[in-house]
Amino acid sequence: MPSFPCPQCGKPSHWTDNPSRPFCSERCKLIDLGAWANEEYRVPERQTTTRYDTNHDDEV
Ligand SMILES: [Zn+2]
Repeated sequence: MPSFPCPQCGKPSHWTDNPSRPFCSERCKLIDLGAWANEEYRVPERQTTTRYDTNHDDEV
């Protein structure tokens, strides 16, 4: 049975019969998803406003 380090805690985890893969447990899975939502993928609001598009259309 192949094993690999859990992305969250680094402990050896199994791939087969593991509903929480690639994490070693449901707990590590939830922790990683929490970090994902709170920090890693926080989208800056500044990038949503694109005024350059309208200005560019006027010049063309
Ligand atoms: Zn883990």
